Amino acid sequence: MYDVAIVGAGSMGMAAGFYLAKENERVVLIDAFDPPHSEGSHHGETRLIRHAYGEGESYVPMALRAQELWHELDKQVDETLFEPTGVLNIGDKQSDFVKNVIESAKTHGLNLETLTADEVNERWEGFQLEDHLMGCFEPESGVLMSERCIQAYRDLAFDAGAQFKFNEQVQKLETQDDEVTITLSNETIQAKKLIISAGKGTNQVLTHLNEQLPLNPTRKTFSWFQADEELYHSSRFPGWAYDVDGQTFYGFPSIEKQGVKLGRHDSGHVLKDPMNLAPFGHYEDDLADVTSQVERIFKEPMSHDEGKVCTYTNTPDGHFIIDELPNHSNIYVACGFSGHGFKFSSVVGEILTQLTLHGRTPFNIEPFRLSRFN
Ligand SMILES: Cc1cc2nc3c(=O)[nH]c(=O)nc-3n(C[C@H](O)[C@H](O)[C@H](O)COP(=O)(O)OP(=O)(O)OC[C@H]3O[C@@H](n4cnc5c(N)ncnc54)[C@H](O)[C@@H]3O)c2cc1C
Repeated sequence: MYDVAIVGAGSMGMAAGFYLAKENERVVLIDAFDPPHSEGSHHGETRLIRHAYGEGESYVPMALRAQELWHELDKQVDETLFEPTGVLNIGDKQSDFVKNVIESAKTHGLNLETLTADEVNERWEGFQLEDHLMGCFEPESGVLMSERCIQAYRDLAFDAGAQFKFNEQVQKLETQDDEVTITLSNETIQAKKLIISAGKGTNQVLTHLNEQLPLNPTRKTFSWFQADEELYHSSRFPGWAYDVDGQTFYGFPSIEKQGVKLGRHDSGHVLKDPMNLAPFGHYEDDLADVTSQVERIFKEPMSHDEGKVCTYTNTPDGHFIIDELPNHSNIYVACGFSGHGFKFSSVVGEILTQLTLHGRTPFNIEPFRLSRFN
């Protein structure tokens, strides 16, 4: 009998697996693939971590704790997991986005520099921002190497005694009073508690319990562009988030000479079958969106190098789901990370550990409760 079984060992599940194993819990992680991999929401090498979060007050303490945990993790492995590039939030001077970032930095005493478009263009010569825009620079945030982070948690979880059942589909999931039974292809697993963190596959897992959550897996794309290393290398160019006229883009400096990477955060194609994604280039906007963004914000023309597809698992309000499953006091769900969850995966792993061990967490997860959809 395991103390905790985790179905879905990607960004959130793998972190939870590590923190639980570190607490000497007998933990088993089950995944349909072999994480990290390119079939979920975590591939493409990099994810931004920002601290001044306009999306809601509860996120900031979580972002700050997540950052501490990333630093701790970084120290435990040989590879670089976090690049301290800083992140520049770009928006219209009067926009809610800029106001919220500034407000959130003030409330939480975060280090934030506000810059005019000219000041941005002077400091980072690769930008050519239009006059009506401004930048809010967070020097302490930066870029996480997403697949390396998951691999690091995997290695440490294994060393701490976690068991892995990878490339396994859940055939059956049954609940008794205070335990769950999970049937895999060749074995049956019993655990006192269950965490379901299966990203875009969460509803597929929940089908076994006759439950469904309001999740919309959405096809997203991102692209690398060849860039002048003199201007765009990560040692001299920041990550950025750009929110103008209802369109939101994000991007990364050239890390390890891979070129500049960028993608569009809003829009995307809702998936009927979340496991079946049309390849990059299938839709005209796959390339058109990023090319127009490159032309708009960069000084130098850049040529497109490569594009990939990935999935956001969106909730109706764009906020996460972290909660006990109704009518199942020993099952927790962590899903619906709506395209902005990776930065928090370290702290979500910690929160899931606190919830499964003690039934509570010091973080405010009220905005992430399922009751908000009632
Ligand atoms: C293009 C793109 C850019 C992004 N940029 C950022 C960013 O800059 N900053 C940021 O913070 N976030 C970003 N995100 C969002 C972030 O990556 C996700 O929110 C996060 O990875 C979600 O984690 P997860 O654990 O829910 O999903 P995943 O990491 O996908 O993990 C889910 C796991 O469940 C497994 N699984 C699925 N179905 C089953 C099943 N039936 N049985 C067993 N296992 C199953 C999968 O194989 C997978 O390993 C981005 C996402 C994308 C796609």
